[in-house]
Amino acid sequence: MSGDDLVNLRQYSPEADQAIFRFLDEIDDGYYEADLSGRLMFVNEAVVRLTGFSREELLDPQSNHYTNYIDAAAITRLQDVFYAASQGTSTSRTVEVMMRCRDGVTRPLEVSVSLVRDSYGQPQGIRGFVRLMTDPRVLERALRVSMQQLAMLQQVDTELNGYLDPSAILTVGLNAAMSLSRADTGFIALMESEGLRVVRSNGLGSGDHDRHLQLSEGVVGRALRTGRAQFVMDTRNDPDYVGDVPGMEANIVAPLSARDRVVGVLNLETSRASPFSHEVYEFVQLLTARLAISLDNALLMKTLQEQLTAQQKLYAQVADLEHLKTDMIRIAAHDMRSPLSVIANYITLLRADLGNSLDDAQRGYFDAISRGLDRLFRLSTDVLSLERIQEQHTRPSALVRFDQLVREVIEQYLPEAEQTHVSLKTGLIKRSVYVVGEALELSEAASNLLTNALKYTPSGGKVVVHLSIHGDRVRYEVRDTGYGIPEAEQARLFQPFYRVKTRETSNISGTGLGLHLVKKIIERHGGEVFFQSRLGEGSLFGFSLPLVQAVEQKSPTEEAIP
Ligand code: ATP
Ligand code: MG
Repeated sequence: MSGDDLVNLRQYSPEADQAIFRFLDEIDDGYYEADLSGRLMFVNEAVVRLTGFSREELLDPQSNHYTNYIDAAAITRLQDVFYAASQGTSTSRTVEVMMRCRDGVTRPLEVSVSLVRDSYGQPQGIRGFVRLMTDPRVLERALRVSMQQLAMLQQVDTELNGYLDPSAILTVGLNAAMSLSRADTGFIALMESEGLRVVRSNGLGSGDHDRHLQLSEGVVGRALRTGRAQFVMDTRNDPDYVGDVPGMEANIVAPLSARDRVVGVLNLETSRASPFSHEVYEFVQLLTARLAISLDNALLMKTLQEQLTAQQKLYAQVADLEHLKTDMIRIAAHDMRSPLSVIANYITLLRADLGNSLDDAQRGYFDAISRGLDRLFRLSTDVLSLERIQEQHTRPSALVRFDQLVREVIEQYLPEAEQTHVSLKTGLIKRSVYVVGEALELSEAASNLLTNALKYTPSGGKVVVHLSIHGDRVRYEVRDTGYGIPEAEQARLFQPFYRVKTRETSNISGTGLGLHLVKKIIERHGGEVFFQSRLGEGSLFGFSLPLVQAVEQKSPTEEAIP
């Protein structure tokens, strides 16, 4: 401490000061002096003894401010008392402080706070006594009060946790704050895009909901600016106080903050001659901390629910559109078959009639028309097959000779393979293999995989069809040395109308229904579809079906078609 500060504070002669210092050092009670901001300027020997800290440590505001050693609630309490004392609104009070002493032990201290005025009556500083609280009655009272507070908080906590509705939380929170503080009037205002809006009010002058508050005005404005709760002990002496209800003597404003964000404020006012106690002030701060978290969670939940509802609505719209699309495609597929047949017939007639009179270009036009018609027929066949399969809910029950069926499919495609210069090889089991199913559908599934292999293999490539027995299943596999499928596209291959877009396959026509149909057919027959593919190397597509009669694990007599 510098001698100048003390002289300024005391305004005595240096000799008198020395005598007073000696006297103060000899008394048993701790004694301190501080400036109006609460900064310690002098402590006597007893404070050093009580706390274990040296004078230098206690007085050095840079490194060891006393706020480092006392509990957070007491800091606010002390600062409020200092502030009230400096404003002259309350000139003497006692504050209970839990202080962590030099030896690491936290001790309860009783600190008295008195205002020092200069000879003109102007506030000059603060001083008071520091005592160790040893009186069991005092300690017991402090314990009882905090136990009561804890019990109340726990009850409010349980209630708050029970709600996820912001409206209920606001009601519970304000009611609890009002009854525990015994305030005459109170409100909760929430931050909205247009500013602060009072959403709940209670007590005198209440009912004025939906009123907007200025963010920067009043004690509320001060609480928002500082982010700290405000305790106005005497509203007449607070220049910021703007009362809505006349006759209020004390005011507590606590910001509601959650996740580093202020969501609103709680305002409590009382008219009673004995204003809110410091315990109430502390309690209100604890309550608002909990209230803010519950409110924040509830608001978050409300936003999530709103988003979920919007998403569900969107999904429903998408599903409706999907149905509409499928229905339209089906209708189109049905209705286009007869006009397509008419066109195809007349084209054939026209071509036959014109015969040799057609030149090369005209023949090319006819070819193009026929190819287009072919594609339309294929599309309508695929769509109608899909529709047929989707409408069948029972398992097919005919006995089908599957090896024979596969042979017929392969033979059907040999000319195409020859034409496109793709070598089509086979490795088929020689004996008869039976499955339960529907021949037409199984042949459609087998040929879809084979057409794909031929379609997506450039000329010079190779396609091999295998038929083998694995346990109680027959396995049909088509392996090709074609373009292959990028890994990222593989997951969606079996979705209806999905086609892979690569540079090599962009000119190959198709509807994207083939694989979807294969999957539907095979699953309806109790089988499984499988595939493997590597871009630029080729693919393997196949399916397995349950066998009707047990056949040896691996047949040594596989037959190869050249
Ligand atoms: P369609 O309905 O006429 O069969 P599509 O052949 O395009 O039309 P799918 O058979 O369902 O439709 O096949 C979907 C996509 O998977 C194809 O567009 C193709 O890109 C890819 N694909 C299928 N089989 C092979 C294969 N063996 N090699 C490379 N890509 C393939
Ligand atoms: Mg296909």
